[in-house]
Amino acid sequence: MPLMRASILSEMLDRAEELLARSAPEGCDEASACLASLDETLLESWRLLERSMTRPSSRRAQAEIERFLFYRRGLLKRLSRRKAAIGPGLLGTLYSGSSRSRLFMFVTHSCQLRCSYCHVVKYPGSMSPEVADAGVDLLMRSLRREVELHFFGGEPMLAFPLVRRAALRARGLAKRANKKVRFWLTTNGLELGDEALRFIKENDFTLEFSCDGADEAQLSQRASAAGSDYYSRLRRNLARLQEAGVRYNVISVVLPKNAGSVLERFRFLAGLGHRRIQINYAVGCVWTQEEQAELLRQMAAAARWARKNGVEFVNASSARREPVFLNGDLTLDCDGTLFRGPIIFNGETPPETGGAPISKPAAEGSYLRMRDIFSLARVETAVLPEYYGATQFDNFVSLTRAYRRRLSVRRVALNNVELGLRCRPMSA
Ligand code: SF4
Repeated sequence: MPLMRASILSEMLDRAEELLARSAPEGCDEASACLASLDETLLESWRLLERSMTRPSSRRAQAEIERFLFYRRGLLKRLSRRKAAIGPGLLGTLYSGSSRSRLFMFVTHSCQLRCSYCHVVKYPGSMSPEVADAGVDLLMRSLRREVELHFFGGEPMLAFPLVRRAALRARGLAKRANKKVRFWLTTNGLELGDEALRFIKENDFTLEFSCDGADEAQLSQRASAAGSDYYSRLRRNLARLQEAGVRYNVISVVLPKNAGSVLERFRFLAGLGHRRIQINYAVGCVWTQEEQAELLRQMAAAARWARKNGVEFVNASSARREPVFLNGDLTLDCDGTLFRGPIIFNGETPPETGGAPISKPAAEGSYLRMRDIFSLARVETAVLPEYYGATQFDNFVSLTRAYRRRLSVRRVALNNVELGLRCRPMSA
């Protein structure tokens, strides 16, 4: 796609605004398509510019395109001044394809594992009940009828009382406000007590259960902090999850050096009886052209195998939005800082994935520095989740601007965006 002229982008934006100001539902559909195509054009233009950023004309073009950063927020303001009815329909149109009304909560930074590709800094700290309450209240102020609360960490099951408290509060508020709330929880699966499982089932959670494959694949990438072999416990817990009838996806993370193992892992996990399997390529590290090609070949083979054998390949569903590196979900850290999500992928490259080794204090410093760059507000002062909505284009510009001088991080970001774009046909 050629680099678009700013005047053409402005025309696209004007057209979307005109359509959004009409209340007729068909106007909304058209506006949605219009905004989606504007986002795509901006993203592609920015990618091309980033590749040639040393030329002065490119820098001018960049300044022109940067004018469109967070344009949806400006659009929302203009529409409200024009007294357009700002209801869920209009908001859905404005933010569909950009960010859902979803809040990630880092309920703890503790974890029993030390996965080689993990960028989340570990320390024994959990969210306070006050911060969790403020996070839930913020999400429930969303202008949309359907919202999602996603518990994350660290290992969220290590802070289960807090998960329970937040979920119950969210349920109560949702009922009063006539909203629907869905719960997600990403877990390493090592801490699944009977009572917790019951609560998860009763409250209709969807679990994202991490299991990279057979014991060798799992333990080589995901060592326990205590150095112990936990694989049989993991298998037992996966089986209990199946028996309890909890809805879950199994997620297997693939490093560049293991790109050739995707199909084998997929078949292994399906052989254990799992029916929804997601393959996550490791982000935050560089994938060579050969590794990318191998990954795509293996993913395509896994998709074919899944279709034939009645297993859901989650990457091929609309739930997967590529490039994942640019999906900046609203995230609440333990200490009450709200930030936009891609930060968790943008620490220094962990040693096992091919980057230079880093010491733990350096990693912590790096995490906090990144979080500061992408921080939005303290949760107690945040008013509306919609205000922090961002498109993939917004996140792309923020990332590349933040790391303009840190060439190694910028290289990783561009590489991962490129890979995500190549994976898109799978999720189309
Ligand atoms: S289980 Fe999750 S939080 Fe813990 S080290 Fe692994 S990826 Fe990181």
